Amino acid sequence: MNKLLEKLQTEHKLDCDELTHLLENDKIDSELFERADETRKKFVGDEVHLRGLIEFSNICKRNCMYCGLRCDNKNIERYRLSKEQIIQYANIAKNLGYKTVVLQSGEADTYNIENMKQIIKNLKELDLAVTLSLGEKTYEEYKAYKEAGADRYLLRIETTDQQLYKKLHPKMNFDNRIQCLKNLKELRYETGSGFLTGLPNQTLKSIAQDLLFLKEINVDMAGIGPFIPSPNTPLYNKQGGNFMLALKSMALMRLLLPSINIPATTAMEAICKNGQIKALQCGANVIMPNVTAKTYREKYSLYPGKTGTDETAQKTINKVKENLKKINRTISQSYGTSKNYFS
Ligand code: SAH
Ligand code: SF4
Repeated sequence: MNKLLEKLQTEHKLDCDELTHLLENDKIDSELFERADETRKKFVGDEVHLRGLIEFSNICKRNCMYCGLRCDNKNIERYRLSKEQIIQYANIAKNLGYKTVVLQSGEADTYNIENMKQIIKNLKELDLAVTLSLGEKTYEEYKAYKEAGADRYLLRIETTDQQLYKKLHPKMNFDNRIQCLKNLKELRYETGSGFLTGLPNQTLKSIAQDLLFLKEINVDMAGIGPFIPSPNTPLYNKQGGNFMLALKSMALMRLLLPSINIPATTAMEAICKNGQIKALQCGANVIMPNVTAKTYREKYSLYPGKTGTDETAQKTINKVKENLKKINRTISQSYGTSKNYFS
């Protein structure tokens, strides 16, 4: 039995050196995963929440070094779904039993505030929980969407190593990203953040700090995934993150913030067969299957190997159901609001 893990599971806290030590030591991996799984079961149960992901536009004004949607990438065809298409996909999601849809896009004023509000209102009329993931916006814009009915927002910090952040995000401002997260919390969004693991020049200590940052701002959801080198980006030739490090980081997150929602990320599946199922057995309790059509999924090329690009929404959910059955997990019939949100 490992003393640090024991302490982490009972007290839900450790300092940076202790977390770094756990990240360095691969002998503790199976005990870590077991404890994360136990903690997941105790705090959020066996239900898995499904979120229908609608990637409604790949137009982006940012130039994140790792991402296939960066504006300097002229090799992808840009698209934007019409309002009607968005509603249509939300209807498909609803009919397939989803209780939440996630509207995600590159960062751009793809729709103006009025139009975006209208879309959110239309989705709320379908009795769905609505999550937005549109990048950095002003306080007023976040407020307008909250008032229109949006429930949740996803904005990853990506890395808390400021030097690395600066290198990876040209012309972006770390402090502003933190301010955005604070604004979202203040506006009472159920707030999700997260980070990438295995980035070039990222240290284990910096991952420990990422974990502590998410604990400190008390996120309601945390998405953690490996960096995957993407074609037509400056980092294409770099080494990608490995599955175990992403999985360990995620398991530690569960132990630090036991009652939050944690997705088994698509990037985990992209680099490891059955990666999402493994993640669900090491602390995760959410999956975000894609509900948009194949032609759009292919163009929403954040990184290569995103799963399900050759499937319909129906096939995707059937597969998820089959897999969940195999590991004795049930599909939640509720909106799946983070238990942390009420605390
Ligand atoms: N534009 C919005 C939302 C879309 S990007 C935003 O940036 O917040 C969604 C997530 O994809 C990002 O937060 C990032 O962590 C992830 N991502 C982008 N490129 C990636 C890559 N090459 N490997 C792994 N994850 C990546
Ligand atoms: Fe744009 Fe988001 Fe990709 Fe950055 S990570 S380039 S903001 S889509």
